[in-house]
Amino acid sequence: MTFQQAYGYEPTVRYSAPGRVNLIGEHTDYNDGYVLPFAIDRRTTASIAPRPDRLLRVSSAFDAGTVLELSLDDLDPSNMTGWSAYVFGIAWALREQAGADLSDKTGFDVFIESDVPVGAGLSSSAAIECGVALAFNDLWELGLDRKTLARVGQYSENHAVGAPTGIMDQSASLLGEQDAVVFLDCRTLDTAVVDLALEANGLEVLVIDTRVEHAHATGGYAARRASCEKGAQVLGVEALRDVSVDDLPRAQELLDDETFRRVRHVVTEDQRVLDTVRTLREQGPRAIGSLLVASHESMRDDFEISVPELDLAVATAVEHGAVGARMTGGGFGGAAIALVDQESRGAIADAVAAAFAAAGYREPNVFTVHAAQGARRD
Ligand code: ADP
Ligand code: MG
Repeated sequence: MTFQQAYGYEPTVRYSAPGRVNLIGEHTDYNDGYVLPFAIDRRTTASIAPRPDRLLRVSSAFDAGTVLELSLDDLDPSNMTGWSAYVFGIAWALREQAGADLSDKTGFDVFIESDVPVGAGLSSSAAIECGVALAFNDLWELGLDRKTLARVGQYSENHAVGAPTGIMDQSASLLGEQDAVVFLDCRTLDTAVVDLALEANGLEVLVIDTRVEHAHATGGYAARRASCEKGAQVLGVEALRDVSVDDLPRAQELLDDETFRRVRHVVTEDQRVLDTVRTLREQGPRAIGSLLVASHESMRDDFEISVPELDLAVATAVEHGAVGARMTGGGFGGAAIALVDQESRGAIADAVAAAFAAAGYREPNVFTVHAAQGARRD
């Protein structure tokens, strides 16, 4: 399925945006803390042609044969169904969130295709949002910067799609650079691009998608957020970002054991993100392995969001020579990442597959990702 097959003529422009992997900094975003994602070399492409009227039409290789349409005069989340909200919602959010005047604009035909795996924790959703946001911003000559477009993407995902996510994914997809990570302060929204320099060090990142989708992901996420809020309230701070590692002994006295362990994960994870940034700048990527492993142990033991498949993936990768490994994403399933020497990639992937088979787990999907450039016109 192509643009030509959907609409019967050729597109005039193509924009693309990547998915992302979070190197470190899990469940820190909604605690006003720090995250360190990078854009990956898996992208979503939006092929586009302007229309003379006020209509937006969308079609996707993902849902071949369907063309959905919405007039720019009817932009409202209640008029958006299914995946089309990821495209229409951007036009709506450009108006609602960024104040763009769309009253004199004309519409587009849009065709989406993607090699970002859907639902594997690599943010296919941000990839589609960010490619479309950059395209509409350019083609409508709105002049918005990339940080504003990231907020537009998040606003659309929160209010048009209805998923309560932070701004990490859109920041990575829009601000990512080749072989670099995006250091994001979720309170101030300040960002800095930090060299990852994997290639120069003979390293790469393996994604180990366990293909486990835990039934308790939504409830577990809500419960963790509630624990964090409770911890911040008892400790008298606005967010757990305001608690330092040195405050933990006092926190232990004030909090029940479970809440304390949730707090300890967030507080130490924020510190690990800062330490990872400093280590990357001063010593390079080979030195971050123990931070990745400590992050995993904290999620496994304190935040309790890992599953046996993720623990096995991490343990096996490390046993077979990975520099470091950790689960990535919200937890209760999904993927782990392993930082590995290029030449040991095959052996580690094989060892993980063998360990999964021996444990009777479903075969994992293991593949390499590289830190890639953010959204762009192709
Ligand atoms: P993730 O972002 O982790 O991949 P999400 O549930 O946030 O998972 O987003 C996946 C959803 O995004 C899909 O169910 C679909 O609605 C939409 N989506 C992603 N890629 C495409 C695509 N190529 N075409 C149409 N919709 C897509
Ligand atoms: Mg998503």
